[in-house]
Amino acid sequence: MSSRTAPLRRSDRPPNRALAEALFALSEQEEPGDRRIALLKAGYAVFDTTGDGRRAAHSKAPDWLRPLIDQLAACAGEDALDAAVQRLSTGSRTRRRVTREGYLCHSEMMATLATGPTELHPDRMRGAAHWHTTDSDGKTALESMARACQRRGFAWSMVTDHSRGLEVASGLDQEGLRLQLKRINRWNRRFGEDHRVFQGLEIEVLEDGTLDVPHGERLEVECVVAAVHRLFDPDRDQTERLIRAISTPGVHVLAHPRARHFHHRPGLRARWEVVFAACAEHGVAVEINGFPRRQDLDWDLARLAVDAGCDFLLASDAHAPKHLEFDAYASAIAMKAEIPRERILNVMHADEFEAWLAGR
Ligand SMILES: [Zn+2]
Ligand SMILES: [Zn+2]
Repeated sequence: MSSRTAPLRRSDRPPNRALAEALFALSEQEEPGDRRIALLKAGYAVFDTTGDGRRAAHSKAPDWLRPLIDQLAACAGEDALDAAVQRLSTGSRTRRRVTREGYLCHSEMMATLATGPTELHPDRMRGAAHWHTTDSDGKTALESMARACQRRGFAWSMVTDHSRGLEVASGLDQEGLRLQLKRINRWNRRFGEDHRVFQGLEIEVLEDGTLDVPHGERLEVECVVAAVHRLFDPDRDQTERLIRAISTPGVHVLAHPRARHFHHRPGLRARWEVVFAACAEHGVAVEINGFPRRQDLDWDLARLAVDAGCDFLLASDAHAPKHLEFDAYASAIAMKAEIPRERILNVMHADEFEAWLAGR
């Protein structure tokens, strides 16, 4: 057998990130419809696996797509794969590529965890922050989410459902917050010694930087998490909006600061060194959101926040128990940004975290 026909070794094949990107890029060559969706699904299947990318893509692919996947997966390395995508492309260069840069695919995340400092590993965190329940847009009741955090070995966790303001209709109003607090207190009386639950609230930052909830209501929760979910105007610098939110008395955390979304939007434009300086000045922790489609902050901006002197909260943004494992992406980003362990609030014991919240 000649060397030209020898099967490729696994290590010669394009990595999952490149194979996924090829499928995403080719999806953009298609008109909206079934073909585009099939390519996208196959791309996501590769992006979200640490196993064999080709096999993952096949598992989601209709018959017509499989030969193309095989052709891409058989490329000898990334350059050959790029060339194949160019050959198969009919239009101009892909436009959305920028919305996919600065994210870790699953295999890169796993590789980072395997090689990064163990002190930043998810197993070494004591608290699980930022999860949702059926009280807002989560899929699971509070007690089940708390139980899942406890099972994962955390000593404490923090629910952060959405508040009901002008912008979020499905969130918690004042009465809902009080009812939730009763359930949290009941949990903590029974299980708090082993797993303490804190009550946070994720509040919308409006276009002018004010928060979408009255001041008095905000103060009733233990942790106020400010976040942008809409009005991303890419032409407008959002520095002032964010600074107004950060400097609002009682705010503890700035969640997913860029509000970016994989493949959909690049996120807010701001003078980030100014934003992070304000976080450090006001003692507002910067969240590293591990939800795979968010990964917000990315490691470059997280590094900038380290340099500004910020503290960090690693978060899964779980909307179901299974999502709690997304904290692994937050840890991987923290590793890549070289965040010092002592700057991460999740390493605190429950009583230390309680004191941090009360001190704000
Ligand atoms: Zn959010
Ligand atoms: Zn959230």
